[in-house]
Amino acid sequence: MISRIKGTQDFLNLSVYNGIVSQAKKHFIEYHFHEVATPLIEPLDLFKRSLGLETDVVSKEMYLVIPANDPSTSLRESGNSEILVTHEKMCLRPELTASIMRAFVNAGIQDTPWKVFSVGPAFRHERPQKGRYRQFHQMSIEVIGSESVLQDALFLAMFDSFFSNVLKLQGYALLINYVGTREDRAEYQKVLKKFLEKNITALCDLCKHRMNTNSMRVFDCKQQSCQELYKNAPTIIDTMCQESAFEWQQLKNMLEELSVSYSVKPTLVRGLDYYNKTVFEFVSIDSEGLGAQNTFCGGGRYNTLATAVGAAKDYPSIGAAMGMERLQLLLEAQGALQIQEIEPALCVVIPLGVEQQPLALHIVQMLHAHHKCADIILDKTSIKSMFKAADKMGAQWAILLGADEQASGTATIKNMITGNETKVAQRDIIEHL
Ligand SMILES: [Zn+2]
Repeated sequence: MISRIKGTQDFLNLSVYNGIVSQAKKHFIEYHFHEVATPLIEPLDLFKRSLGLETDVVSKEMYLVIPANDPSTSLRESGNSEILVTHEKMCLRPELTASIMRAFVNAGIQDTPWKVFSVGPAFRHERPQKGRYRQFHQMSIEVIGSESVLQDALFLAMFDSFFSNVLKLQGYALLINYVGTREDRAEYQKVLKKFLEKNITALCDLCKHRMNTNSMRVFDCKQQSCQELYKNAPTIIDTMCQESAFEWQQLKNMLEELSVSYSVKPTLVRGLDYYNKTVFEFVSIDSEGLGAQNTFCGGGRYNTLATAVGAAKDYPSIGAAMGMERLQLLLEAQGALQIQEIEPALCVVIPLGVEQQPLALHIVQMLHAHHKCADIILDKTSIKSMFKAADKMGAQWAILLGADEQASGTATIKNMITGNETKVAQRDIIEHL
C-alpha cells in the first residue's frame, strides 16, 4: 500500500470545504473582487525577493522543484555529491500574494485598484500538527494599487462581516497593529535594538540571531520567557512619524464607525518581510478550536512588494490570506455546519431484471436531461438488496422498472421517505418527482 505524503491530507468529503469556498466567493464578489488563478510552481527568486531571505519560509520551508532530466539530478543519482546550479530554480508556491503581484506586474495592468482573490494549495515544509499541513489551502484576497487607509478599514470590515454574518463564526478576535513606513521601521529598529542589547542575557538563541538580521521578527518568538520580556519593549507606535500616527488613528476611528471590534497588539509584526503600515490577524479565542495555530486569517499592507518583484514603481496594496483548513476546523468544532453545500434530492432507477436495464438507462438519461440528480443500480440481484442499496445511497425517490412496467410503458415511483408508491406513465415521471 502506498500512503499519502506526511503533512498532506485526502479530502474525501468536501461539502464543508466547498461550502466555505462558495460562500466566500459570493461575499468577495459582492465587494467587487474577481477571481484569478496563478501557477503552483514559481521561480524561487519570486519568494526570495518578496518574502525576504531571513524568513523561515524562504530559508527552511521551501519545496524546490527539479525536473528529472536536470543535469544536477542525474549527477546526484549516480552518486556524485556535487550539485550543479540549475538554469532556473523553481519551487512550489509557499503562499499566493507574491504570485498574484507577479501576475499583476507581468500583465502590465494599469487599471487600479485591482481587486482580486484566488484560492488553492500552497506548500511549506513545516512540522505537521493540528491545523498545519505541508500542503495547505488558502484563499488570498488582494487590493493592488490603493493607498488610502480607509481602504484598510473597508477591507477589515469585509472580513469581519464574512466571519460573523456569513459563516456565523463565534469566539474570534481581530488583532491589529501598525508597523509604519520603511523609514519608521528603520528608526524603530534602532530603538528596539538598544532594548534587546540591554536585555541580551534574557534572549533565546533565535532572538539573538534575529536581533542582528531583522530585529522586529523577535516578536514572533515562541519562547514564553522572550514574550514576557517583549511586553516591556518599546513599540513602533511610540516612535513613528506624525503622518503614520495620523493614519493609524484614522484606521482605528473608521473601524469604530463601522462597528468592527478590534484589539491592538503592539507585538504583531507578521512573519513576512513585505508588510508595512497596517497588519492584522483574525484569531480564534475558543481554546477548543485550533490550539497553537489560532490564526485563521492574516495579512496587511505591502506597499513595496510590486517593486520587489520587478515593477517600475510601487503599488500600495493590502491583502490577506485565509487558511481554509483552519476555518473548516473551527466551523466543525462549533458544530456550525449549516455552511455545507446541500445535495440535491437523489432519484435511483431500479431495473428488476437484466431485460429492463437498457430501458433504465434511457430513464436515467431523461432524468439528467431535466437536471435531476439520478443514479442507477446495476450490480445487485434481489429486489430487497436493490432497495437496501437505494436507501444507503440516500435516495429520495426509487423508480422501479419490472417486466409489467416495461410492457405497459409505466414506472413505479416509490417515495423512500414516506414509502408511498404510484404507478405512472414513463413520460410523466418528471412531473411526479
Ligand atoms: Zn526568543
